[in-house]
Amino acid sequence: MFQRIKEIVAKGKEFMVTSHIDPDGDAIGSAFALSFALKTLGKKSVVYLKDKVPYRYEFLPRPESLVHEIPAKPFDAIFAVDCGDFFRIGDGYEKLKDKGPIINIDHHDTNEAFGFLNIIDERASSTAEIIYGILKAFDIPMDFEIAVNIYTAILTDTGSFRYNSTNSKAFIICEEMTHFGVTPSYVAEKVYESHPKERFLLLCGALATLETYHDNRLAIMYITDELFRQTGGSREHAEGFVEFLKEMRGVEVAIVARQIGESRYKISMRSKGNIDVASVASRFGGGGHKNAAGCTIEGSADQVKKMLIEAVAL
Ligand code: 5GP
Ligand code: MN
Repeated sequence: MFQRIKEIVAKGKEFMVTSHIDPDGDAIGSAFALSFALKTLGKKSVVYLKDKVPYRYEFLPRPESLVHEIPAKPFDAIFAVDCGDFFRIGDGYEKLKDKGPIINIDHHDTNEAFGFLNIIDERASSTAEIIYGILKAFDIPMDFEIAVNIYTAILTDTGSFRYNSTNSKAFIICEEMTHFGVTPSYVAEKVYESHPKERFLLLCGALATLETYHDNRLAIMYITDELFRQTGGSREHAEGFVEFLKEMRGVEVAIVARQIGESRYKISMRSKGNIDVASVASRFGGGGHKNAAGCTIEGSADQVKKMLIEAVAL
């Protein structure tokens, strides 16, 4: 399965590794782990992420080559990891296309195989699980830098082993990572217990907008630009709010709408069981997984809410 990648890596000297905007633990952990692995093989690699590393992932060892601007030079290949679609790389995706052949490594059901080579495994708990498989196929020795990135990616992308994407490999790989110096309580403290006060002010304001529909099976709340301004919070402070809503008894779909423009909202959706929010997101041009998906919708907060309540027909 990884033979083609082996050939490309063997031939090339310099690679780019990139992932999506608003990077989450899987985007960052997968990209960093792959970059460290390429270095182990004696290859050069630049990691390009449009957005900065969110505070909760700042503890992760990162490659020195991390940049937030697309380098001018071409590459032997570009690894796009955890990108459900190519536009999610950010507004630079057009420029990237000309910089080298794209190797698309992902686990999203809705991935449209945009690469010249596509390694898509929607049964994988995370992209990091696929990266781990690649490292094994290459016989790359594991070390702490790689292990802590892979561990954190799997931990966060399985919602701490709670989502139905959690499979036995997720546990087996994470267990193996503890043998390379990863301490679960240390990672948990960094990722889940290091939030600044802004997050809680933002949560207060967002919860004030909370409403439930369809017999309390749909919970929805939103965060406006004004709330971001009032609290001093930003997008990274709101990560995971949607999971919090899902904790309500009886809720089957949880939605958080975050204002990203004059009349534009970024939608995060989560569902329980068989309810497919990826198909809801697809209707608005987005995508994701059955139980975790997202999209962008144009309109005022009220209009967006109305569209979503109708689209989520419970
Ligand atoms: P989140 O709510 O955490 O931002 O995203 C949940 C899931 O949906 C992630 O797997 C993410 O990649 C995917 N997702 C979020 N927004 C979009 C989007 O606009 N387009 C696509 N294709 N996937 C998205
Ligand atoms: Mn992922």
